[in-house]
Amino acid sequence: MRPHQTMAGAMALCIVAFFSPHSAAIAQGAPPYFGGPKTVKLGDGIYSFTKQNARNIFIVTDEGVIATDPISPDAAADYMAEIRKVTDKPVKYLVYSHQHWDHVRGGQIFKDAGATVLSHQACMTYFHRDPNPDVVLPDQTFEGPRFDLELGGKTLELYHFGRNHGDCLIVMRIPEINAIFLVDLVTPYGVSGGSGLINDFYPTDWIRSLKEIEAMEFDYMIGGHGPPKAPHWAVTERREYLEALMVAVKSEMDSGTTPGDIAGAIRLPKFQHLWNYDRLLARNAERIRAYYILGW
Ligand SMILES: [Zn+2]
Repeated sequence: MRPHQTMAGAMALCIVAFFSPHSAAIAQGAPPYFGGPKTVKLGDGIYSFTKQNARNIFIVTDEGVIATDPISPDAAADYMAEIRKVTDKPVKYLVYSHQHWDHVRGGQIFKDAGATVLSHQACMTYFHRDPNPDVVLPDQTFEGPRFDLELGGKTLELYHFGRNHGDCLIVMRIPEINAIFLVDLVTPYGVSGGSGLINDFYPTDWIRSLKEIEAMEFDYMIGGHGPPKAPHWAVTERREYLEALMVAVKSEMDSGTTPGDIAGAIRLPKFQHLWNYDRLLARNAERIRAYYILGW
């Protein structure tokens, strides 16, 4: 067993043991570091901030700050306050990881402070089609697979892998700490979280993107949800879980299982240690069944 896996399992056990006397609830335990607000220093001038089950990063340079997902108006106020605790430099950029409202509401406080709001160009379709008064439209976008955002001698590398979770999600790499900020595509140590319905995910493109992310150079990931740090293999674990889930659902469909019984029949013993396995596996499976019916 990989050492990190052992450590993660022990961590889950401690948390669940604290909150619940039932050992059977281990897989149901909430990942640590949810809630907040909480700021974690990751390197020289590099931080993550967590509130309301969501996380972002910010990078302080001599010429100003690069901020990312504001999360919500309430979280953004706390986020700005946390930035102000470590620097009085202006926030120059606010980078959106993707278009979903649970990550990108609340940017106005940064816009008012003079920040340039930046996203991938593909997000603009969503922002215009599904406007939200709390979502500030980007001032700057980029097209293509990569854009290096440079400020004050530091670089935030922005990678776009096409359609996977929506089709404008950016994976951000921070070379100084050899880490990536990875939102929604992987919630470490768990099955796909939230409602478990895997909303706005495209299963085959999701797996393809995870393979491309696995090929990236990084020591650890900073998740948009879940614990603040997870090792490189957390991406592999999520990809292998999805592949196994797709095979299992297809097998049940091919064997003639009654459609309404398929999701509940899925068992993936190799992954039963994951958080929310018992609670969300069937919902994940139902989404995959829809993929095989609809083709996306
Ligand atoms: Zn999302």
